[in-house]
Amino acid sequence: MTRIALLGATGSIGRQAIEIVAAHPGLELVAAASGSTGIEGLAPLTQTGGDLTELLEAAQPDVVLNAVVGFAGVGATLWALEHGVTLALANKESLVAAGDLALAARERGGGLLLPVDSEHSALFQCLEGRRDVELDSIVLTASGGPFRGRSRDELAEVTVGEALAHPTWTMGRKITIDSATLANKGLELIEAHVLFGLPYDRIDVVVHPTSVVHALVRFRDGAAIAHLGLPDMRVPISFALTYPERAATPVPRLDLAAGLTLEFEAPDLDAFPLLALARAAGEEGGTKPCAYNAANEVAVTAFLDGRLPFLGIAETVERVLRDADGSPARDLDDLREADAEARRLAEGALAAA
Ligand code: NAD
Ligand code: MG
Repeated sequence: MTRIALLGATGSIGRQAIEIVAAHPGLELVAAASGSTGIEGLAPLTQTGGDLTELLEAAQPDVVLNAVVGFAGVGATLWALEHGVTLALANKESLVAAGDLALAARERGGGLLLPVDSEHSALFQCLEGRRDVELDSIVLTASGGPFRGRSRDELAEVTVGEALAHPTWTMGRKITIDSATLANKGLELIEAHVLFGLPYDRIDVVVHPTSVVHALVRFRDGAAIAHLGLPDMRVPISFALTYPERAATPVPRLDLAAGLTLEFEAPDLDAFPLLALARAAGEEGGTKPCAYNAANEVAVTAFLDGRLPFLGIAETVERVLRDADGSPARDLDDLREADAEARRLAEGALAAA
């Protein structure tokens, strides 16, 4: 039996994870947590709000599935890595904010870090058994979101409802807005850098509207290996929870004979500046990625609350990145301070706008 602690159990990933666990006789939920909705009875140990590491200490799981949204997941990510407990990671924000601390914790803990984000799960699978020297570069695909093809001017008036209408994935509200701004791909770029250790100039992003190709790895011999599948998060969730096995899932097979066209195009960095801002923050390093994430979280909340126009999200993040100190965090306290400082700067930028 694999004993799983599911954090973020009421969310989009959390609910799909419950379905995967229920269908697999070798998987068992021993603990579950949510942010605000009660989940009593879902697992022997449950918690709503509070310090997630207390729940993990009590549960001593084999696998932590971190499907919390936002920086709130950082303590659980570092706990799992530090304790050598397998971390199935959906909560990309924690790896973006705490990249260096996470790598150091994984080094000490010696456990597995299995990405649940579909692109990174795909990359992990394409890279399995390969040596670094064989690698040329990796490619993340982006659906382009609901506003693909629009110019910057055409984005000025878009509404929350339009931004929440994602063409290929059904997800929580925060990541859906991030997909509309391409901040999601920006976060994923930094996530890929942390996970796979490649410099930013060897990580590309390409827009692929149907989300069938999740990622590609280019090798030095000129071959590229791509990972294909219908856009369904149950596949990477199942992969991470049953690794190194591949368990059966109820996800429909790809029907190639029905006609499958694979289109790719370059992202429009002028209309969607959050992608380029993420690359710059990642290259600067230190706590700049943490500031990028924090500012984005504040700005997305303000957009969802109707306090900020769509283009204001990128403007807020850009200002915060300019003003944030960015010096590296020695520990989690430092990181929390950098996160809080970036949030203060973002709120200041909102108030001034
Ligand atoms: P969601 O908003 O649907 O769910 C978030 C969950 O986190 C909820 O259960 C909520 O109660 C919980 N939560 C929030 N704050 C918490 C706190 N302080 N303590 C404990 N629990 C807390 O979000 P989602 O779409 O499921 O996304 C979750 C994470 O997975 C995000 O980091 C997202 O980027 C990532 N992700 C999601 C998808 C997807 O298809 N939904 C795909 C790839 C990656
Ligand atoms: Mg993704």
